Amino acid sequence: AVILAVESSCDETSASLVRNGREVLSNIISSQISVHKKFGGVVPEVASRKHIENISQVIDLALDEAGLKLDDIDGIAVTYGPGLVGALLIGLTTAKALAYARKLPLIGVNHIEGHIYANFIQHKELEPPFVCLVASGGHSHIVNVRSYGKYEIMGMTRDDAAGEAFDKIARALGLGYPGGPLVDKIAREGNPHAIDFPRAYLEEGSYDFSFSGLKSAVLNFLNSLSMKGSSPDIPDVAASFQQAVVDVLSDKLIAAAEEKKSPYAVLAGGVAANSKLREELSNKGLEKGIKVLYPDPILCTDNAAMIGSAGYYKLLRGEISEMNLNAVPNLTL
Ligand code: ATP
Ligand code: MG
Ligand code: FE
Repeated sequence: AVILAVESSCDETSASLVRNGREVLSNIISSQISVHKKFGGVVPEVASRKHIENISQVIDLALDEAGLKLDDIDGIAVTYGPGLVGALLIGLTTAKALAYARKLPLIGVNHIEGHIYANFIQHKELEPPFVCLVASGGHSHIVNVRSYGKYEIMGMTRDDAAGEAFDKIARALGLGYPGGPLVDKIAREGNPHAIDFPRAYLEEGSYDFSFSGLKSAVLNFLNSLSMKGSSPDIPDVAASFQQAVVDVLSDKLIAAAEEKKSPYAVLAGGVAANSKLREELSNKGLEKGIKVLYPDPILCTDNAAMIGSAGYYKLLRGEISEMNLNAVPNLTL
């Protein structure tokens, strides 16, 4: 079956055609980064307007690149949450209109579930069960993926998401927006052991995260330097901060995979693009005999292909949405 997927939960307008959940025929992503950059973050109302301007073209391009017509489509998958309500509504309304006009099944997809499915596209052999870390701009979850559609949340962040911490520290360092890739890049020139920032492991055996203490520690470090009239070594701060995040994320994911006897430790979400996290996890996985998997960077950050994959497996299970499906900004997994 061929799924047309639409994603508009934040600042990427994306449409994709996916065959049988694993084969990407096209994946068009129109990023609004340049628009939001001057504000230092995503401005929700501006995001909605940009989605309206772009969505039809993005869908046309996706069909063109796949060499398909709407007649060739078996279902329409769309992100209905979590995300910015105005942004979600643009994709959702467009998908509903197409599904209604073409008498096609509408399949509402959870964006976080979508992030996990990027791995099914990347790794054709991957099948549940496995343990997955979803670390993105708004979420940091360790999920036991029992089967397609059955998820056990083993732990989640108690405050900031990992990507949010990257974005905030990047702003404090004057690196710009979005912060994750910029911290990743400049950290390569720094010493990850230059500053000993705190690592919040929380209670023994807990798979929860907390990044607000680390964030405060970095901000306090920067403030005390500037009070003394000195300026920080930005690569060292970036590298030391990143190392603290990566240590906790990778240790907890490996421990969760061991607990569940998962042969795989899988990464998903924007932070899964982080080069240090990929490297560190791969090393720890080798030590423990756990295979570490992650998608290509373009499938880590927001894209419609991952929504098409998740949508396909929902269609297989007969999980079709009603036409009154609404956007759910705080949808949980
Ligand atoms: P959510 O998926 O939780 O709704 P989102 O969709 O805004 O949030 P994603 O697009 O999945 O988030 O990921 C974007 C986040 O990933 C941003 O916080 C960004 O800084 C971070 N990120 C992207 N690349 C990297 C990288 N190389 N290193 C660290 N963080 C990164
Ligand atoms: Mg984005
Ligand atoms: Fe996302």
